[in-house]
Amino acid sequence: MRTVAAGILGLLLVTGLVTGCSDPDGVDAPVDGPGLAAAVDLGAAFGDLEQLQRIADEHDGNRAVGTPGYDASVDYVVGQLEDAGFDVDTPEFTVDTFTVHTEQLRVAGRDVPVTALGYSPSTPPGGLTARLVPVPPGEASGCDAGGYDGLDVAGAVVLADRGGCPFTRKQQVAADRGAAAILVADNVDEDLIGGTLGGRDDARIPSAAVTKTDGAALRGAPDTVDVTLVLDTTTESAVSRNVIAQTRTGDDGNVVMAGAHLDSVPDGPGVDDNGSGVAALLASARALGVSPEATNAVRFAFWGAEEVGLVGSEAYVAGLDDAARADIALYLNFDMVGSHNAGYFVYDGDDSDAVGEGPGPDGSAGIERAFEAILLQSGISPDGTDFDGRSDYGPFIAAGIPAGGLFTGADETKTAAQARKWGGEADTMFDPNYHTVRDTLDAVDRAALEANVRAIAYGIGQYAQSIDGPNGVPDAGDARATARAETPK
Ligand SMILES: [Zn+2]
Repeated sequence: MRTVAAGILGLLLVTGLVTGCSDPDGVDAPVDGPGLAAAVDLGAAFGDLEQLQRIADEHDGNRAVGTPGYDASVDYVVGQLEDAGFDVDTPEFTVDTFTVHTEQLRVAGRDVPVTALGYSPSTPPGGLTARLVPVPPGEASGCDAGGYDGLDVAGAVVLADRGGCPFTRKQQVAADRGAAAILVADNVDEDLIGGTLGGRDDARIPSAAVTKTDGAALRGAPDTVDVTLVLDTTTESAVSRNVIAQTRTGDDGNVVMAGAHLDSVPDGPGVDDNGSGVAALLASARALGVSPEATNAVRFAFWGAEEVGLVGSEAYVAGLDDAARADIALYLNFDMVGSHNAGYFVYDGDDSDAVGEGPGPDGSAGIERAFEAILLQSGISPDGTDFDGRSDYGPFIAAGIPAGGLFTGADETKTAAQARKWGGEADTMFDPNYHTVRDTLDAVDRAALEANVRAIAYGIGQYAQSIDGPNGVPDAGDARATARAETPK
């Protein structure tokens, strides 16, 4: 044993000399939060964003799942991890990709702007002409049959308001009552929204969204008005890949897992959403190396198909058996950490804000405290952001795995108080470029990116060293296995 150990040490010394990465005495310091935060190469992280922008530029301006731009993004991340010494897996999963060829709505000779909801079936060629039947507006408009107030919607185009339940449910209720199609009117004054029916299996009737203003105008139309809806769409199955890499050292029964989605939306290059999270994880992976002196193993994940409904992360979690789930101590998620008008948010794992969804699995509160403390130490006072599961941590918390993460904001509006404490512009979105062609390298807030890259490395280093203490998570063994087993699969 001793001889073997000496041999490995000798190898490390040589590597250290060649790369110049180690201390002069050739012994790396054990991993911890401050050490990993200090070791990250911020220039290299920005270089990753430059490369992801270049990849989008060379592939129709985007890196969306099912496109060559996504495949090139996978190749890039695999190459970077391999350069850092990692063995890399790219497990495959199947995803339905959705394309809109035509979307039109005509009412009384006038064109009304409309967007097809994701996975919406096509109307017959030439469109569907039918009477328009608004269902009662309000909180949960069209969310259940009772809310239809006895209306006859057979063969009609139903108009419901957004809110109260997912689009999928509104569509199902309308389909069950015999509607030919559904329009969902926004409940907020904004540009036309996108949305999804969740997947091909749930999509039953042509479904599209209109703005709040147009929705109100349609509600005011005469009872007898006919509308013509034309949706020409295709849904295709594609094979895509996640990218997974894990340290060789550390307890692989107490894996500290960190993930970021690698796909963009089809509308833009996705440099903040989510090149920023990808760059942050690559920075930590490079600083950590494949064989750190760490207590716990660290596993990095780069997810595909987040933007079409967390498909890559869901496939990954679904593919783990009970033992493999119990091996994951915690999951950290980073989705947008360089927003143009940045906010500083920590996922509200303990539901202390009492907003939206409830708390996460046991241990999520500790992760929230840990990241709050890390940001406070660097002079940033973060706010909470609802733990709603609408990024890749969703499948992990659904499997009873504690989770947390950082976020610099998307299409929510920065308040005056937030602008005072963080800088930037009040009454403006945190990322005014969210899900658009403008989500480019130039729009990234470099200071926010750097603060988050360091904070993320700090968190990963801290949990790699220890998952104990007040900000720790339930240990391996019975407690964790029970928590996971209680979770419906
Ligand atoms: Zn995202």
